[in-house]
Amino acid sequence: MKYAVYTLGCKVNQYETQALETMLRARGFERADRDADVAIVNTCAVTAESGRKSRQAIRRLRGLNPGALTAVCGCFSQLEPEEAAALGADIVFGSGDKRALADAIVKALPARNVDDPFRRRVFEPLPAGAVSGRTRAMLKIQDGCDNFCTYCVIPYTRGRVRSLPLEDCAAQGAGLAAEGFREIVVTGIEIASYGKDLPGKPQLADAVEAVSRAAPEARIRLGSLEPTAVTEEFCRRLAALGNVCPHFHLSLQSGCDDTLRRMNRKYDTAAFLAVCERLRRHFPGCGLTADLICGFPGETEEDFETTLGFLQTCGFFFVHAFPYSVRPGTKAADMPGQLSRAEKEDRVRRAGEVIGQLRRDYLESCVGRTLSVLFENDHAGHSGNYCPVRIGGTARRGAVEDVYITAADGDGLLGELTKRPE
Ligand code: SF4
Repeated sequence: MKYAVYTLGCKVNQYETQALETMLRARGFERADRDADVAIVNTCAVTAESGRKSRQAIRRLRGLNPGALTAVCGCFSQLEPEEAAALGADIVFGSGDKRALADAIVKALPARNVDDPFRRRVFEPLPAGAVSGRTRAMLKIQDGCDNFCTYCVIPYTRGRVRSLPLEDCAAQGAGLAAEGFREIVVTGIEIASYGKDLPGKPQLADAVEAVSRAAPEARIRLGSLEPTAVTEEFCRRLAALGNVCPHFHLSLQSGCDDTLRRMNRKYDTAAFLAVCERLRRHFPGCGLTADLICGFPGETEEDFETTLGFLQTCGFFFVHAFPYSVRPGTKAADMPGQLSRAEKEDRVRRAGEVIGQLRRDYLESCVGRTLSVLFENDHAGHSGNYCPVRIGGTARRGAVEDVYITAADGDGLLGELTKRPE
């Protein structure tokens, strides 16, 4: 039997797809690009645009695999199971229960399996591993979110915080290291809340230590991080491990205090800036990246200018800027001061100009440094601080090598293997 799969959205979705693939392969399935027996779409609902792309992907995959059983899962079908079914899905799951989804596919029984996410109390452990064709592996340690940011639909699709126990973090880390992965991405929906549901309330630093010690040969990269997690102790413990990548992706969302308050974010810009400084003190030269929402309801021109200035103050290496998207059922959807699509897109464009310059500045700052690069093919890969790096010679795919950076080139860096200044 053959399956085709398409994944939208975040690293957790990618992780869960690879886990689903592992379970299907263990039952004799093979992956195919078209004419498969089962077409699977793992959907996203984080923005209205993700919902649109999810619908489009379901239609497209059905077209490429005529007659295939269609299985849809993820946040879009969690919110809109009837719509997923109306688009032709034979099997509809939400954002949970991937093992049951694998079972349902194997049995090829049409089913509707969307549960109530708020009743989920236990983390569903899934097999960790690589997304096919990739050299880095993902390890999901946490699911759900209790933060209820006013713009976000995720707490309604994923439910409460659930965490992978520490011993399982270690066991999965060791398993990935034994498979030869040289980079493990520790990920989840809101990893700063890791452990609050577990006995003894371990923290994120405990989980990272468990993975790091179980996989000392691998480098550990953290997935998207709420700034509230980045305390002095957190930085000290992670820096002491020696194999944590000097790259941190922080959820900023706005650089204006008034907007942050209306978003129900749990920090202000002063606290956020202190986090950036703390990370730079413990991980000198680290790459800081962030997410930014442009055109949140009530965001004035002055607020947005304040945000642009704050991006420069923080000195990010890259910022993923996207337009605010109305998600029905969230508080922000009913807030006054909704901006037009054109206004939001114009702000994304203006943010992009600032971000482009910040990226060029950071890449230039890497020239003359020696960076450790994980090679995704024989001449290119990503450094620990997440810069794309190309070399003149060749390296082995999957290897981690020291590269002396000779130049910044467009969107990435150029370098030579272990060539250092005389
Ligand atoms: S922290 Fe906020 S933005 Fe992130 S998943 Fe939770 S509610 Fe959504």
